[in-house]
Amino acid sequence: MKGAWVILWFLWPILRLYRTLRGSRREKTDLKITEVGSTSVEVLTDPIHKDDGLPILLIEGLFGFGHESYWRGLPQAIETSGRRRKLIFAKPGAVSSVHDRACEIFYQIKGGRTDYGKEHSDEFGHQRYGKTHPGLYPEWDKDHPIHVLGHSLGGCTGAMLQHMLATNQFEGHVTHADMIRSFSPICSPMRGTTIIHLLGLRSGGQAGFALLSLSGIISRVLHFYQFIGLNFIWDFQMDHWPLFSLKRLVREGAEGIRMAVLWLITVMVRSPFAEGKDNAFYDLGLEGACQSASKIKMNPNTFYRSYAASMTRPAPFFGYHIPSNILHWPALLLLSTYIGSRTRSSLKKVKESIGTTVEQWFESDGVANTVSQYHPHSCREDYCQHVRGFPSRMEKRPALERGKWQVVELRGVTHFCLLPSFLVSSTQRQFYKDYLEFLEEAEAC
Ligand SMILES: [Zn+2]
Ligand SMILES: [Zn+2]
Repeated sequence: MKGAWVILWFLWPILRLYRTLRGSRREKTDLKITEVGSTSVEVLTDPIHKDDGLPILLIEGLFGFGHESYWRGLPQAIETSGRRRKLIFAKPGAVSSVHDRACEIFYQIKGGRTDYGKEHSDEFGHQRYGKTHPGLYPEWDKDHPIHVLGHSLGGCTGAMLQHMLATNQFEGHVTHADMIRSFSPICSPMRGTTIIHLLGLRSGGQAGFALLSLSGIISRVLHFYQFIGLNFIWDFQMDHWPLFSLKRLVREGAEGIRMAVLWLITVMVRSPFAEGKDNAFYDLGLEGACQSASKIKMNPNTFYRSYAASMTRPAPFFGYHIPSNILHWPALLLLSTYIGSRTRSSLKKVKESIGTTVEQWFESDGVANTVSQYHPHSCREDYCQHVRGFPSRMEKRPALERGKWQVVELRGVTHFCLLPSFLVSSTQRQFYKDYLEFLEEAEAC
């Protein structure tokens, strides 16, 4: 009997997710579907009126599955707020690096053939060009800015996108950091997460993941997935990597099949994707994330608000962190305990370069270290302001300033409490309300 309860405890969130996804397919919304490349992107297709708010770009996290239910409740919250807003649902590569994801998002919005940049593609050994997109908001420029909201890796991607806009990295386009009016990462490990070492990330300057690590295995499964042509089920958008498809090679006859088998054996031993530094897993590690963060500069005209979650508290006597509530999802209880007690040398080495203590890295939301969710650089009086709880619930709201991070610290909140919002809980409704009020304030300034 006890065993049945344990199984139910583990399976319950999965069953709820399945039911929600099934239900949402039937749900009628006012979103229309536009085909972009081979991925479907939902966007409000009405023209923008004079009194409408600025559009919001929504960026999902790692393994984002491209389903509108990730942001469920947001269109309704916007309707309730009384201000129309265009929603731009980005669909970047589910396991691609933040650089590649930022490129894909830029061309999904502006339209045109995705250009990953000559220097970058030469350095990492993938094709320079990717999918062609019709453009979800081609008028996007300095005079038509947008708001950016990203969850987890989606927030890290948004930070890279603004850096690339600020440094004019999209050939043939004139860009500016002002193209982003506000940027809000949610539970985003902008300086990396120590959980990534569980996936087998090598530390100490070595790139990539060990062959027999979890990430090494995932990468090889992805190669095989692409190889046998299962993209129609779920497109990971890895087309720019030199990955062969069995279908293509079979068409080329016996020689093609021989090449296919040889290629498959080669990537199973040495994966071009997993062995390098151009993938999401590397960018989520402390070394990769801190390298990206070191490039990112604050734009004096953008409003920044991050939502940093924590589900742990210090354990008595030991100084490590343990879950603050036993009723969270069991997997997160285990992961937060792992993060809460990690003291490996790689962490000690990195923390010196980013001005934090090892103890600050114990607190987490079950996936990302809380200190890493604040902002890309260390705390400074002129750089950031921290508040506890949603500002919209405070009697006296903290003043919002351009070019300064406002960090909303949320206690008792896990990595998945705010998003994906399959169930639209009261916390998620409160979060949407808070966020939309932040946008109003940012547009009024
Ligand atoms: Zn790349
Ligand atoms: Zn700070």
